Amino acid sequence: MATTRDYYEVLGVARGAEEAEIKRAFRGLARELHPDVSEAPDAQERFREVVEAYEVLSKRETRELYDRFGHTGLRGGGFTPTQFDFGSLNDLFAAFFGDDLFGVGARAARSRGADLGVQIEIELVEAAGGTKREVPFPVAVTCVTCGGRGAAPGSSPVTCETCGGSGRLQRVSRSAFGEFVRSQTCPACRGAGQQIQDPCPDCNGDGRTVEERKLEVEIPPGIHDGQQIRISGEGHAGGGGARAGDVYVEVRVKSDPRFVREGNDIFATVDLTITDAALGATVTVPTLDGETELEFPPGTQAGEIRLLRGRGMPVLQGFGRGDQRVLVKVAVPRRLTDEQRRLLEQFASSTDDETYSADEGFFEKLKSAFH
Ligand SMILES: [Zn+2]
Ligand SMILES: [Zn+2]
Repeated sequence: MATTRDYYEVLGVARGAEEAEIKRAFRGLARELHPDVSEAPDAQERFREVVEAYEVLSKRETRELYDRFGHTGLRGGGFTPTQFDFGSLNDLFAAFFGDDLFGVGARAARSRGADLGVQIEIELVEAAGGTKREVPFPVAVTCVTCGGRGAAPGSSPVTCETCGGSGRLQRVSRSAFGEFVRSQTCPACRGAGQQIQDPCPDCNGDGRTVEERKLEVEIPPGIHDGQQIRISGEGHAGGGGARAGDVYVEVRVKSDPRFVREGNDIFATVDLTITDAALGATVTVPTLDGETELEFPPGTQAGEIRLLRGRGMPVLQGFGRGDQRVLVKVAVPRRLTDEQRRLLEQFASSTDDETYSADEGFFEKLKSAFH
């Protein structure tokens, strides 16, 4: 998801900052926040934010758009932040800088496994009570045959000839200002320092195979449509024994025809006939906890709202519940027999102003139902 924070603030630079300054700030923050390096729980989120900010501010067109119109201008101009998984971060830096950021210590082949997304759908009532779901998904796991090394059993990977096993190449360029050394991930072995001549038949030398896995996912009460649950370390296996990625379970909450949800509050309607409304009636209405009986006094009006405090959705990771509001609708007969028409006409001729005059408290009651 795209951040709403100010991009300059995210990178900690001034609005008029030079290109080089923006680049420097990004490198510094990226080194500090990279999820392979940082232990901070929000590192991943902040990292994405920093990458997004850099993506926008490092390009003239997007930076101009952002300077003039802010986030809205960017979205309007069709900008969406790059979606990436953390398994390919080295590639990301290679794309930005033409080298990788972490030097020999974090070789591409030892990068963390990729994250994985799955989607599940639950009923609104399940979202209210919380539920469990068994979620199947295909995941890359370390190959059993070769133990993740990628070489066929009985053979071994050989040292990469291109980089001599270091996983990196250095390019030196000379100019009037001196020598510049640029270090780059070795393209032949993609940073592993080794090459596989006789690949494992089960994984084709990748060191990973795909397996169908099931996870029991606990969905907390009060979850909102579209929210994600992160399950740490259950994603794709990392290369060379590095840590696995995470699984993101996106929860879609189906709409329930009986209810409208607004935040933690629930709305429902109840249909009374004109005689129920006039004479009073006990009617069954749906709530998230099942059906309940509501008593409506004689003279109940269309548009009245009954407040059921604490009968809405639970507050996610909090306390208490929202409210349920029940809107009264009054059904007017659509077809009358001659007899019914005669009775209604007789009734109509017997009414006077008093029959329909409101109680003094009526509007007060109506107002209080809204909060
Ligand atoms: Zn294998
Ligand atoms: Zn190499």
